[in-house]
Amino acid sequence: MKIAIIGGGLAGLTAAAYLSSESDTEGTVFERSPQLGGRAFTYEKSGFTLNYGAHAVYGIDRHTLLHMEQELNLKFQSKQVDKRKVMYAKHGQLTPAPLDFVNIVKTDVLTATEKMKFVGEIAKIIGNIHQLKHHQTLGDYLDHSHASADIKELWAHLVCSNFFIAPEDARKVSGAVIADYYHNLFLSQKPVNYILGSWATITDQLIEKINENEHWEIALKEPVESITMEDGKFILNTKARQQLVYDQVIFAMPVQQAVKMLESTPWMTSLEPYKESTSTEVLVYDIGFSKVVARPFHYISDMDNKMFISDVSATDYTVAPVHGQLLQGIAYLNDDFSDEEQKKQYLEQKTQRMEALFDTYYPGWRDHVEVKRVSKKAMVSSVKNIHGNKLLPTHLQGVPFYFCGDGCVGKGELAERAFSSARTVAQSILAKKVNVKAHS
Ligand SMILES: Cc1cc2nc3c(=O)[nH]c(=O)nc-3n(C[C@H](O)[C@H](O)[C@H](O)COP(=O)(O)OP(=O)(O)OC[C@H]3O[C@@H](n4cnc5c(N)ncnc54)[C@H](O)[C@@H]3O)c2cc1C
Repeated sequence: MKIAIIGGGLAGLTAAAYLSSESDTEGTVFERSPQLGGRAFTYEKSGFTLNYGAHAVYGIDRHTLLHMEQELNLKFQSKQVDKRKVMYAKHGQLTPAPLDFVNIVKTDVLTATEKMKFVGEIAKIIGNIHQLKHHQTLGDYLDHSHASADIKELWAHLVCSNFFIAPEDARKVSGAVIADYYHNLFLSQKPVNYILGSWATITDQLIEKINENEHWEIALKEPVESITMEDGKFILNTKARQQLVYDQVIFAMPVQQAVKMLESTPWMTSLEPYKESTSTEVLVYDIGFSKVVARPFHYISDMDNKMFISDVSATDYTVAPVHGQLLQGIAYLNDDFSDEEQKKQYLEQKTQRMEALFDTYYPGWRDHVEVKRVSKKAMVSSVKNIHGNKLLPTHLQGVPFYFCGDGCVGKGELAERAFSSARTVAQSILAKKVNVKAHS
C-alpha cells in the first residue's frame, strides 16, 4: 500500500511513524516548508531552544503521548510545572492559582465559602455529574448558574488558559467539551508538564522511525498543489513533480488549507459544513535573557489583561543556556475588527501591555535580552473549539481520504488532538489493510 501524507507537522509525522512501522507499506510525507514540525518546529538561537508553539502537555499521565510512547517505543522525559509557583494576578495582586486543594486553600480569588462551592464543582466534574455537560455552552451554563461572580469568572478564566482563547470565546465553548476536558484534567496527577528538550524530542524520534523504512520518503519544500482520482488511485501534483500515484491519502494540515486545496473537487460538498470554521490565534512574545532576571513564579496568568507569562526555563532547564532564562508571553485575542488598521492598533497595544507586564515582574529585563521573537498572529488551533465551529471528522462519508491535525475530531485540545487524530487515522488504515489481506 502506497500512502501520501500531506503535511509534516505533529499530526503528519505521527501518522507516518505508525504507518511506516509496517514493513509492507510505502509512502511519502510532503512538507511545503524547508523543515518538519509545522507549528511545533523547534530551533536554536543564541543557545536558546525556541518552539513556534509551546510544548506544555496537559495531563500527561492520561495523554495520547503515553500510548505513542509504548506503541512507537518513544523515549522522552517530562517535568511538571511547580504548582506552588503558578499564580493568578487579579486587580494587580498575585495569588496562587486554584489548581489543586492546597492552592485552593491559599488563593485569594475565592472567599472561604466560594472555595467550598468550587471544590464541590470539581467533585461533580470528576464524578461526571456536573450540570455543565448538559448546557450548549459555558456561557449558557453560567447564565443559569447561581454561583458567585468570582466562581463564574474563574470558570471562564480556566477555559481561556487551557483552550488559549479570549473570555468571550470561552463562554462559547460547549458545556460537554469542557466537562469532558476537565474530567480528564482534574483526575490527572500531572496537570501541566513540559517535554524536556521541546517538541524536537518527539519529532526527531518520529522522523527517525519514518527513515528506518527505506520505502518511505520525506519530501521537503514540496507542497502538494492538487489531487484527483483515477481508477481507484489518487493522483497528486506537487510543485516539483506531476502525476504521483498513491493508494491512500492523508491530509495532515490545518483544515482551512485542506478545504482550499479541495475547493473545486467533487468532494467539496461533503466539506462544506467545515469551510467556515474559525481558528484560534494568539500573540506570542518569546524572550530569552542572558541571566535569570527574576523568578518569583513559574507561570502567571493575568486575569485583568487576559495574558499569561510562562517561565519556560524554570521547568524545562534544557531550553536556555546555564545561567539564562526563557519566557513566553501569550495574549488571547479577539477577532472582531472593523478593519485592518483597528486590528493593527489592537495588536500593538497588546504587545505594549505584555512589555509592561514584563516590566512589573521582571524589572530591568530590557538590559539582558539575548533573543526575542514576537508573533502577532500565531495559530494555536486550526479550529477554535467553540459552539458553531465544527471539528473535521478524520473520515467523512463520501470522501475517500483521511484527515488529521488539531482541527480534527480527536482526544484533548491543541497538540493532543493532532497526535490523537493522527493515531486514529493510522490505526484505521492499518486495520483496513489487515481486513483486505484476510479477504484476499
Ligand atoms: C503559540 C502557540 C503555543 C502553543 N502551545 C501549545 C502547548 O503548550 N501545548 C500543546 O499541546 N499545543 C500547543 N500549541 C498547539 C500545537 O503547536 C499545535 O496543535 C500542533 O503543532 C498542530 O500540529 P498539526 O500537525 O495539526 O498542524 P501543523 O503543525 O500546522 O502541520 C501542518 C503542516 O502541513 C504543512 N502543509 C500545509 N499545506 C501543505 C501542502 N499543500 N503541501 C505540503 N505540506 C503542507 C505545513 O507547512 C505544516 O508543516 C501551541 C501553538 C502555538 C502557535
